[in-house]
Amino acid sequence: GTTRPQVSIVIVGHVDHGKSTLVGRLLHETGSLPDGKLEMLKAVSARRGMPFEWSFLLDALQTERDQGITIDTTQIRFRTRSRDVVLIDAPGHAEFLRNMITGAAQADGAVLIIDALEGVRDQTRRHGYLLHLLGVKQVAVVVNKMDRVDFSAERFGAIRDEISAHLTGLGLAPTAVIPISARDGDGVAERTPKIDWYDGPVVVEAIDALQPARPLDELALRLPVQAIYKFDDRRIVAGRIESGGLSAGDEIVIMPAGKIANIRSVEGWPSSPTGAQGAGRSVGITLDRELFVERGDVIAHVGSAPRDTRRIRARIFWLHEQPLAAGASILLRLGNKETRAVVVAIEKAVDPGELSSAETKAIARNHVGEIDISLAQPLAADPYVDNPRTGRLVIEVNGRIAGGGLVLSVDAGQRAVP
Ligand code: GDP
Repeated sequence: GTTRPQVSIVIVGHVDHGKSTLVGRLLHETGSLPDGKLEMLKAVSARRGMPFEWSFLLDALQTERDQGITIDTTQIRFRTRSRDVVLIDAPGHAEFLRNMITGAAQADGAVLIIDALEGVRDQTRRHGYLLHLLGVKQVAVVVNKMDRVDFSAERFGAIRDEISAHLTGLGLAPTAVIPISARDGDGVAERTPKIDWYDGPVVVEAIDALQPARPLDELALRLPVQAIYKFDDRRIVAGRIESGGLSAGDEIVIMPAGKIANIRSVEGWPSSPTGAQGAGRSVGITLDRELFVERGDVIAHVGSAPRDTRRIRARIFWLHEQPLAAGASILLRLGNKETRAVVVAIEKAVDPGELSSAETKAIARNHVGEIDISLAQPLAADPYVDNPRTGRLVIEVNGRIAGGGLVLSVDAGQRAVP
């Protein structure tokens, strides 16, 4: 069959506003639960004399995943009409941030949940702010527990206006604001008479309308060089294609040096009859001339090469107990390249637990910041908006990962880029 677009989403919101309940409902309404699972859990709850909670379902699935019982041991998935949806776990604040910013998990969109009775809380606003910091561009808002406010259109309207103003101020206008009762299922997969005054999409439709990230194959070629092997007089340049694709005969440029060559041959695992290879493949290529290539270089097509730079602005998440301050000496890893670097300036330091971006001069542990970095050696880098695979960096201090983040911008180097 045809491949369905996949979207990764994260569900965020103030604790107790109904995230687990919504997830349970979504799995149920989209027919994504194992047969009999729900009935079994309801029976167990009844036997124990406790009311059934949708969050039990998540706990049960989590336990099975931990024990390796279910086949898909990593992620919760469900299908909407036209999308395969992967739900990224957002267990704790710090973990979620770290996973998002280091690329372990990357959300195409988010669902922000708000309890209709409690309304927009500080944590709600913070989550909106974090989504913005992390570069998430699509957010659907759900106003949950509408049953607790008698499905009042007025109450809903007030919350919708407040959260819309906040998100729009961050450049993150919501794709939809949806009144629901996750516990009872109103507005999750189906419109119900209780919310007949609302004519926007239900949650499943809003998720279905999220745009997936552009496939990596469609981006410009980026082959970070992992190693160079010598066989007799042949030199094979090996690495994993992070984006784009290549084939024999292509004219390429080796960055940051800017030297040009043609690809003579391509070995891929598995090999392809045409010699063409795409994103995600490990390849070995030979070139038509002898050029100096080393680990950490990036191979790209002429005309769409990354910039060579000695200066990078980045948005990072900091993990080290020692706060990061201007003047700090760090080791920067970007793709397969490592170089010493110095933090020239801290331009922003934000405590995700507070809303204010206080005028601090250092980025404390578990805080987010924007920094200006000067590199000891030039390297090839892409801004994150251009390439989510190669626009990420990791910072090490004393041999330990101390932070990581997104490349915001790159100062062009001296070299004329082909
Ligand atoms: P989480 O902490 O955001 O994951 O919140 P939960 O999903 O665990 O829900 C917190 C509490 O709110 C639970 O007791 C739920 O049963 C309750 N709850 C969730 N959705 C609704 C709803 O639509 N209506 C009502 N009345 N209660 C709900």
